Amino acid sequence: MSIKCKLGFHSWDGCKCNQCGKTRDEQHDWKKDCEKCSKCGKTRENEHNWNGCKCTQCSKTRDEQHNWNGCKCTQCSKTRDEQHDWSKDCEKCFKCGKTRDGQHDWSKDSKKCSNCGKSSIKLIHLAVLPIQRGNTIVFQAEDKSDKCYNLHDITQATVIYIAEDALQYFKNDDSLWKRVRNKDVKRSSIPKELGNNPLAAIFTSLSSDVPTDLEQNEFFICLAQHYADAKFTMKFKSEV
Ligand SMILES: [Zn+2]
Ligand SMILES: [Zn+2]
Ligand SMILES: [Zn+2]
Ligand SMILES: [Zn+2]
Ligand SMILES: [Zn+2]
Ligand SMILES: [Zn+2]
Repeated sequence: MSIKCKLGFHSWDGCKCNQCGKTRDEQHDWKKDCEKCSKCGKTRENEHNWNGCKCTQCSKTRDEQHNWNGCKCTQCSKTRDEQHDWSKDCEKCFKCGKTRDGQHDWSKDSKKCSNCGKSSIKLIHLAVLPIQRGNTIVFQAEDKSDKCYNLHDITQATVIYIAEDALQYFKNDDSLWKRVRNKDVKRSSIPKELGNNPLAAIFTSLSSDVPTDLEQNEFFICLAQHYADAKFTMKFKSEV
């Protein structure tokens, strides 16, 4: 302990001496929490200035008097399992992301839900990399969880993410190429300024409008600059 502190001349920073750590019951710091001093931890009661679930002074929230807009509180973003918004997607709440099964209406059009307009086709997303095996090129196709597929065995509609310089090998495989919907596949222009999130920029520059009416067996190609981008984009997309 410093001599000054021993003599009782503490270096007070609000309620706490910044030399010896002694505290006093004055000048507490209630800015972060109206009811708990952020310097010494002293507590007090009934000091928040509640506006619904949120204190207007320290921004603390409480689980009372939420301002519900459907399933979500507009003040604190807490969600509840009521009044979800299924208007954009019958099976996924637009506001909170909650999902449910079997709610689309395919009775009028087997390919498109008559309520929300969603396509009934379950796309799979695969990143494809050509690999040389002896004298032949084989394609390694992976989904977002790194599960491998043989492209020739796939019967579903598939979005293929492939690097630009690998496309030629894909084109050479007639049986695969004839299944491609967008044979005029062009690389969407990658912005010159990639900003501070290059992968996100590349992602948004990739063809983002995969058709909703892909047929069974059909492929839709999205070009990336590098395989790594393709893989990233594929992960990104299928998570959306
Ligand atoms: Zn002191
Ligand atoms: Zn204090
Ligand atoms: Zn408060
Ligand atoms: Zn709230
Ligand atoms: Zn919801
Ligand atoms: Zn629907």
